Amino acid sequence: MASPTVGLPVGTPFGSPHALSPSIMVIGSLNADLVTYTPRIPAAGETMTANGFRTGLGGKGANQAVACAKIGRRRGDATPADLKGAVPVYMVGAVGDDVYGQTMTSSLTAAGVDVSGIAVRAGQSTGVAVIIVDEAAGGENRIMLSAEANGSLTPDEYAMSLPTPGGGLPSLLLLQLEIPLPTVLQILETAHRQGVAVLLNAAPAQMLPDSYYKCITHLVVNETEASFLSGTALDLSGDDSQRDKELSRVAGHFLALGVQHVVITLGAAGVFHATSSDSGHIPAVKTKVLDTTAAGDTFIGAYALALVQGQTVAEAVQWANRAAAVAVGRRGAQESIPWLDEL
Ligand code: ADP
Repeated sequence: MASPTVGLPVGTPFGSPHALSPSIMVIGSLNADLVTYTPRIPAAGETMTANGFRTGLGGKGANQAVACAKIGRRRGDATPADLKGAVPVYMVGAVGDDVYGQTMTSSLTAAGVDVSGIAVRAGQSTGVAVIIVDEAAGGENRIMLSAEANGSLTPDEYAMSLPTPGGGLPSLLLLQLEIPLPTVLQILETAHRQGVAVLLNAAPAQMLPDSYYKCITHLVVNETEASFLSGTALDLSGDDSQRDKELSRVAGHFLALGVQHVVITLGAAGVFHATSSDSGHIPAVKTKVLDTTAAGDTFIGAYALALVQGQTVAEAVQWANRAAAVAVGRRGAQESIPWLDEL
């Protein structure tokens, strides 16, 4: 039985007077990060001793939900009165019935995320990212993702309607590509039919059929993903004007397929954004970098939050650059994301 449909008419512009009250829903991955710090990468068949180990909470879906929630709240805001006025953030996904799943849901709740849309799959494990950090190579990462419960989200669940954990549809839906691709494609189609604005962070990059780009309101990608998805090499070695010309060309590929806003993040070099009528480059905030884990997720959470609060894309990018600059100055994933009072 489908949930009641309370969406906007298809084609209603995002931010129009018909827009729903601001709320954000993330449908995506939740992972335990198992991180080993090594003096070098072990050879095949070799056992070696690591410099250290830590567990953390990650997954692009969970990280982005935490970013939306933390950046919209002050540290310690928890009671309903404190949260009055904060944009509600709903996480939809699946964890296993294990300790990682429990830790994840309590940590998301502490950040202010509504976890009522997270299913606990009996007999399954929570998704895991096994990460090796090679300390001799400047902290270079090697990451193995194991989808586990994240792989259990099926297209059928989203064929009739998007979930409505807060009782209605969200004003913005955030998606990434760490849950099965057929499920993401079904969600895109359903959101489009229900008139819900979608931000797709197409990471890790996978090819999308051209016909789905029209369902994307905001496509947020880094330069590697932009190059992969557009099927063209991106040469950013020239001066600023050549760089912007090159980025315009790649953004034009996505705009021609129906995306409304293209945002390409460039690490320390900032952000390029484009619509069919306007484009521009916005520099990053200069800061000391400690760990870039979750920089992109922090950027996306802050960008999404600013948009649903009525800021323009350029204002939202500036705000998101500020938030991401704080995150790169701290270690870890979700714990590195700033609260509102730290910005
Ligand atoms: P991803 O981590 O997804 O590859 P980027 O590396 O492009 O994404 O980083 C996302 C955002 O994080 C950037 O657009 C910028 O706002 C911020 N950021 C990343 N690296 C730095 C840096 N060295 N200095 C300042 N901001 C940074």
